[in-house]
Amino acid sequence: MEPATQVWWFAAGRLLATVLIGCGAGWLFGNPFGGLAIALALHLTWVLVNLVRLEWWLRHRNYADPPDIGGVWGEVISQIVRLHRRKRFHKQRFVQLMRQLQRSTAALPNGVVILNAQREIVWFNRMAARLLNLRRTGDLGMRIEHLLREPEFVRYLAKGDYSNPVVIRQSSADECYLSLQVAPYGDGQLLLLVSDVSRQMRLEAVRRDFVANASHELRSPLTVVSGYLETLGADGSLDPELRGPIAEMRRQAERMTAIIRDLLELSRLEETDEVVGGEPVDVAALAALLRKDVLARAVHPREVRVRIDSEARLLGDEPEIHSAFSNLVDNAAKYTPPEGSIEMRWWVDEDGGHFAVTDTGFGIPSEHIPRLTERFYRVDAGRARATGGSGLGLAIVKHVLQRHHGTLEVRSQLGSGSTFTCHFPLERVAATAPAVSAATA
Ligand code: ADP
Repeated sequence: MEPATQVWWFAAGRLLATVLIGCGAGWLFGNPFGGLAIALALHLTWVLVNLVRLEWWLRHRNYADPPDIGGVWGEVISQIVRLHRRKRFHKQRFVQLMRQLQRSTAALPNGVVILNAQREIVWFNRMAARLLNLRRTGDLGMRIEHLLREPEFVRYLAKGDYSNPVVIRQSSADECYLSLQVAPYGDGQLLLLVSDVSRQMRLEAVRRDFVANASHELRSPLTVVSGYLETLGADGSLDPELRGPIAEMRRQAERMTAIIRDLLELSRLEETDEVVGGEPVDVAALAALLRKDVLARAVHPREVRVRIDSEARLLGDEPEIHSAFSNLVDNAAKYTPPEGSIEMRWWVDEDGGHFAVTDTGFGIPSEHIPRLTERFYRVDAGRARATGGSGLGLAIVKHVLQRHHGTLEVRSQLGSGSTFTCHFPLERVAATAPAVSAATA
């Protein structure tokens, strides 16, 4: 028999003995029930005394020894002692773990801020305090947007898409750039990771300046070479054997000019901050212009359609929007055979404005799609070279869209065509006029 069961049997036996003794003694005095009542009252008193001792010890158990009672009471007390010891052990382990966690996060080279579901600061480490100028006394419990007011960060936080970090320039310190990334966890809580990326941004600026300067320096000699090649090509007395090589040299010089032009445009796009506001761009007029450009090409797809589903204007920088859309339409024209067709479409819905260029061209294998906007990335280098592309067109599109808080979506089926869609947020749409009937030019 287990010791716990034993004590219960013992308690039951004692109660039975009390009852029997009470009844027996009462019987001797001619009142067995009176004897039983006295015996039970004594038993109850003993139980109450034990309860009082137990309750007193529970209140003072941190420094008082447990009462020395046997039987069932002793068993209950030893169970409580065991539970208490186990709880103390777990508490110590938890405190140690917390200390280790705090020490390790404090030693992290990156800043860590814990935010609750209301985006109020719950905790931050030393690095976060240094990078974000947070004060342990005043800033705990404050909403993070009230302390970090940079518009890029406020927008990033509101957007809820935390797959990539956002880089902000700290207003309090010159040339200090911070990368901020949010990682959601638990029940709406957020972990904000902060790192100093000033060095990377400085290197990036040096690289950008170098590319811009090199492109600029190359432009003048190339203009001279192109000019002479043009004169030579137009010279009727030129040896016929030289005509071919000179024509090829002119083509290559034109390609180099296109590359330098696009490199300079990319540098210019990277140099300035995002487009704030901007003017309303008439997408219908722009699409009509681009259609004319395609039809003016020596070789072009048979059909070029324009479908305008909304009269709403697009708010942005007109030359940049023109450049982005023209690059997409230019690609569609370049990578679609003459018997194919192109369609440009502009529409507005509750997500924002969308401009799509669909072609029935060669299409792109799916594994290349994620890398298309990288500089000089080409799916088929031979075809791209033959069409005279600089390899920078889609990189320009991506930059222009980024500066307008837009995104580029590419869908393509090898052999049957591609659709490149520019998605702009609602704040970039000037007026949501009612949809007009589809116009096919
Ligand atoms: P390029 O000047 O070479 O056209 P881009 O940056 O504009 O450079 O495009 C990158 C690559 O993406 C192209 O070389 C081409 O292989 C592919 N591409 C772009 N648009 C299309 C399209 N509409 N159809 C098929 N391939 C395309």
